[in-house]
Amino acid sequence: MAVFIVMLASVACGQPEQPPNVVLLMADDLGYGDLGCYGGPNSTPHLDRLASDGLRFTDFYVAQAVCSASRAALLTGCYPHRIGITGALGPLSPVALHPRETTLAEALRALGYATAIYGKWHLGHRRPSLPFHHGFDAYFGLPYSNDMWPRHPTHRFPDLPLIDGTAIIARNPDQRRLTEWSTRGAVQFIADHRDQPFFLYVPYSMPHVPLHVSERYDGVTGRGLYADVLAELDASVGSILAAIDDAGLRDQTIVVFLSDNGPWLAYGDHAGSAGGLREGKATTFEGGVRVPCLVRWPGVVRPGSICRQPAMALDWFPTIVRAAGGDPSPGVDGRDLTPLLRGDPGATRGAPLFFYWVNELQAIRDGRWKLHFPHEYRTLRGPGGTGGQPAEMTTARIPLSLFDLETDPAESRNLANAHPDIVATLERIADAARADLGDSARNLRGAGVREPARFDSN
Ligand code: MG
Repeated sequence: MAVFIVMLASVACGQPEQPPNVVLLMADDLGYGDLGCYGGPNSTPHLDRLASDGLRFTDFYVAQAVCSASRAALLTGCYPHRIGITGALGPLSPVALHPRETTLAEALRALGYATAIYGKWHLGHRRPSLPFHHGFDAYFGLPYSNDMWPRHPTHRFPDLPLIDGTAIIARNPDQRRLTEWSTRGAVQFIADHRDQPFFLYVPYSMPHVPLHVSERYDGVTGRGLYADVLAELDASVGSILAAIDDAGLRDQTIVVFLSDNGPWLAYGDHAGSAGGLREGKATTFEGGVRVPCLVRWPGVVRPGSICRQPAMALDWFPTIVRAAGGDPSPGVDGRDLTPLLRGDPGATRGAPLFFYWVNELQAIRDGRWKLHFPHEYRTLRGPGGTGGQPAEMTTARIPLSLFDLETDPAESRNLANAHPDIVATLERIADAARADLGDSARNLRGAGVREPARFDSN
């Protein structure tokens, strides 16, 4: 208890006596309804233990429901289109994260942290855009998504590089090793940094298609390949948590686990579950943007707590930088989540959440209410795909729609006509956001939008 109080006091002052280590684990395309601790059908004992030892968010969001945009927000604390990173970058993408943007790795390195990433980067793969150029001392993994390779079921892609530091060490690597490589790198890094604060970022390539699992986990669940992949990912988290314990660092290490976006429903039996939420990846419906998020932070988070307040992945930047004793730039969109994590009575994030798709403002959440502006979205035409083949999608359109997420998380009952006052309030909030962040649906470029780095497209 004494330790708990001392750490709380130091966090409250913003000057921790010993900066905490930060381990940020992120799955790729994992659904809200996949994990055992979120009521899912899969056995995920290590992640479930992380939840019971820490805090589970029920209403946690990513900024945009696709890989690169989601990561850009996580690592900079900014809405991704503010810094020009939208969609999923590919091998021919002419843009990358701009060097002037400050990543979490750079902010923490400036505070004396060792930094490393083991997994999927996806913020630019050309030489000046790799993790090494954005604050990471060590890197091993794929520069972008694992489906961007010659064996894609419907698109043609060049060879997929595997990168160590800044060197390509293989092309089209054996994807059965991807999760192992992330585990091994992370465990070794922790063992090597017992005496220096560190930031370890593990953005797994799995369970993004094409699904791959090592021989040890192949068939282990009896529930299909997706469940096997999740079993290996859960075991990897268990190994990383064990490495933290073995190093004696449990009480001084923040562990965060989340997903970068909801399930890629086109892939059917190779996709996860949104757990009853509407739609999935690449939409601004809850199934796309609401993700699992678990936090273990001894001394700040009460074990077994649940936070039902909305929060967003871009909030981790100011939260973690402040915990490390730094002063996050006032220009970031994220909010310090520490009051929510502590469970302060009445604490909220203190700002509405904006859901853009690329540069279009499609929805806004404030408290229990979510307002969708009229927009198009992609949805399954029929059943999902099987065996790694994507099913056909079609375009649908939603009119202006107000949902009460406390009573209707599935976004099924449009209350816009019943609550014109709430719609008007949310419209006013959105207009203020548009002036800053823009809205392509209204041909508005926001005053606060910045350019990404640009390259020739070949
Ligand atoms: Mg993803």
